Amino acid sequence: MHPHDQTIFALSSGRLPSAIAIVRLSGSQAGFALQTLAGELPRPRIATRALLRDVTGEPIDDAVVLWFPAPASATGEDVAELHIHGSRAVVATLFSALSALPNMRTAEPGEFTRRAFENGKIDLTEAEGLDDLIHADTDRQRRRALQQFRGLLGDRAREWRRQIIEASALVEAGIDFSDEGDVPQELMRPATMRIETLLGEIESVLAEGGRAERLREGLTVVIAGPPNVGKSTLMNQIARRDVAIVSPHAGTTRDVIEVQLDLDGYPVTVIDTAGIRDTDDPVEQEGVRRARARAADADLVLWLAERDEAKIDYDGEAPVWLLRNKIDLSGDGVDVQRNGGVPTYRIAAKNGKGVPELLDGLVAFAGEYFGSSEAGLISRERHRKLLEETAVSLRRSLEVVSLGEELAAEELRIAAFALGKLLGRVDVEDLLDVIFREFCIGK
Ligand code: GDP
Repeated sequence: MHPHDQTIFALSSGRLPSAIAIVRLSGSQAGFALQTLAGELPRPRIATRALLRDVTGEPIDDAVVLWFPAPASATGEDVAELHIHGSRAVVATLFSALSALPNMRTAEPGEFTRRAFENGKIDLTEAEGLDDLIHADTDRQRRRALQQFRGLLGDRAREWRRQIIEASALVEAGIDFSDEGDVPQELMRPATMRIETLLGEIESVLAEGGRAERLREGLTVVIAGPPNVGKSTLMNQIARRDVAIVSPHAGTTRDVIEVQLDLDGYPVTVIDTAGIRDTDDPVEQEGVRRARARAADADLVLWLAERDEAKIDYDGEAPVWLLRNKIDLSGDGVDVQRNGGVPTYRIAAKNGKGVPELLDGLVAFAGEYFGSSEAGLISRERHRKLLEETAVSLRRSLEVVSLGEELAAEELRIAAFALGKLLGRVDVEDLLDVIFREFCIGK
């Protein structure tokens, strides 16, 4: 039996133990399984209380069950949801009861979503949006991901693809019309006008830049400077601002290398280069390797210096702010200079003076950096590449139309193909494994 014909099941809710756990089933055996466990099939889409029993009649749990017959389900297949008590024992017992049924197996990561995609419930951009939604750390990321999941880019791409196919029908009609070979240019005019409009739209989407991509990845700020100026002290100060922390370990370890902040909904990662050091611990090595790589392409550098020192020893491309630390030693007050030149903050990392001002500055910087990223359609490199390919082919089709209509028609085919790839409708087999592998189990 093909793996796709098997019915899959997984724990779709969070870590056990929990008040309630949700086990989801999808596939042709879902109804049979539900009926076997619950005694009968409940009415579709109505939450129904049921005592679940294994095949020997032994009770497993008192549950609430839901039945979504195909095709009106999340995956497009028959789906059942079992809301059980969230203990390890209940889940384990239910899993072994399910495994004992024919053609049932546990799901691979992302397999429910993959089935939804393969059954045409969602396109690939929407599947990616769903993955982003599940992994959203901040409110702005959440809003942006929800839009993508609901078809922000997918709907536009479908519409563009439809228009390209229409334009190529016009071009082909011109070819058929003139058996002699030369098609009068007036005949091509309606087609070229459409292509020009379309090209303009796609170009303006590309011109919005990578803001939505950035929102996905977050803004990276690096703390750099000579030894002993207070980098780690500042890092720990930032990590201790309890309002802002996203990453689980921040503040719990003594030397924080990296802390993820939610600054007014913007995802910001701060990396302390002082924490980047050689180590024998393999887990730490991996952390150091990643921190180093991310520091190398920082979006902003906070150059920390002694209070009377103004030399900045950084020759990368990122903007740099100068932080003059240890003002408590001279009795200076907190001061922020942002007009002209290098923005400069006078702070005392040790007692946290100036840190709120610094965080305010970072929020403002993030606001400019991300811009109106929620409006951008492109949230991944994959999207950008395929839209660029589409634009290139559309542009070429306009250039070659006077040389021969067949040439233009061929370019339009390539453009439509690129959009088909974007939507996951053509030529993506190799990609799917990569994309869905990143999903959680049960999704
Ligand atoms: P790093 O090597 O740049 O990470 O520097 P550290 O954070 O380890 O700090 C070096 C020393 O400077 C430590 O003894 C800190 O306590 C001290 N230090 C850091 N910030 C301040 C500050 O604002 N005022 C004073 N007086 N000392 C500080």
